[in-house]
Amino acid sequence: MLTLEEALSLILAQIPATQGTRADLEQSNGRFLTTSICSTIDLPPFDNSGMDGYAVRSEDVLTASQENPVLLKLLGRVPAGTVFEGEVQRGQCVRVFTGSPLPRGTNAVVMQEDTRIEHPGEVSILEPAKPFDYVRLQGEDVRAGTQIAKAGSRISPATIGLMGACGIGSVEVGPLPRMALLATGSELLEPGEHLTPGKIHESNRLMLASLSSEVGVSTNIYPLVKDDLLATKEALETAFSNSDFVVTSGGVSVGEMDYVKAGFEKMGGKLQFWKIAMRPGKPFVFGTWKDKFLFGLPGNPVSTFVTFLLLVRPALLKFQGAVETGLSTQHGILNESVSNAGPRRHFIRVFIDPSGIIMPSGTQTSHMLSSLAKANGLLDMPPEIKLKQGQRVTVLRF
Ligand code: AMP
Ligand code: MG
Repeated sequence: MLTLEEALSLILAQIPATQGTRADLEQSNGRFLTTSICSTIDLPPFDNSGMDGYAVRSEDVLTASQENPVLLKLLGRVPAGTVFEGEVQRGQCVRVFTGSPLPRGTNAVVMQEDTRIEHPGEVSILEPAKPFDYVRLQGEDVRAGTQIAKAGSRISPATIGLMGACGIGSVEVGPLPRMALLATGSELLEPGEHLTPGKIHESNRLMLASLSSEVGVSTNIYPLVKDDLLATKEALETAFSNSDFVVTSGGVSVGEMDYVKAGFEKMGGKLQFWKIAMRPGKPFVFGTWKDKFLFGLPGNPVSTFVTFLLLVRPALLKFQGAVETGLSTQHGILNESVSNAGPRRHFIRVFIDPSGIIMPSGTQTSHMLSSLAKANGLLDMPPEIKLKQGQRVTVLRF
């Protein structure tokens, strides 16, 4: 049986190198850059005032104080968005506002609160100013020609702010996969339907749709599929006809009612591997059809959830151009001892609080959704191991 790492690298090796398309900045939040971005301008683009106040020559006001104010002649004012035409000489100042370009001849700003107007046309400076006090220097944030965002990184609201300030209106981003979600099982009813004997509500498709949307992928939800070879084959064909990723739940175990593998092969798909040495999620199947991908997840809801996070999510991220495809991690301390007595690697559901205290979130069998809903992380436990209370471990966060 494959290890999780072997399975993941087989999957990622099949995901194509990303071809970028151009997107307007306002459409790019959450997308992944396919090229690194450099600024063509300095930021700020010019020296400017960091305060409402007066632009001065610092040498004029080095000795200014409340007791011995320095009187300066007021030459004029320069609202933000305009430029002062003249040049400031000894003993002169100009009224400025936050963001006003610094008038020529000045090198510091005295904030309004440290000044007093005695007569029109004159300003008393009550505090000294050193060169560049309250001045925002050209290029101190970003120098023209430097990299402001890396290829493969996710565009965040702050990156959008930075790129916008640098005058960048559009960027090259990776494609969004078209993704289909199928659930197989003759016992399944739509979530809103009235339960009849032997039936259960289907819950995996919406859970998977929600997980997918967290990595920027919107999904097409397909009708429920009965446990039947022909029905499964036809449902897969329909899903593949307009998707890059087809993700199914259920029907990948060893029972004679499990038709996903057979249905996929019947439609001409190529199974790449089946089964991974992990719990939950052992019967996971991966296949390819043309340049498209089948992810057959086990039907138990926790197995569905965990295999999505560990195997499908990285593929969705790589397809979009992401460099970083793993879950984020958090270190913490176990609040109680936990053991994996079994022969298989086990990802157990845990809750890690903001201070890093970790506790298992409840019963760990793979049909138990209540303990999944209480969890915010997975603890990767090798076979036949006991971790002690107080031990420091790393949790995969979701
Ligand atoms: P399977 O992988 O098809 O053998 O299903 C394993 C278990 O998960 C069975 O108890 C199924 O009833 C349950 N199950 C399968 N698919 C779903 C689903 N979409 N929603 C909720 N439970 C499911
Ligand atoms: Mg089934």
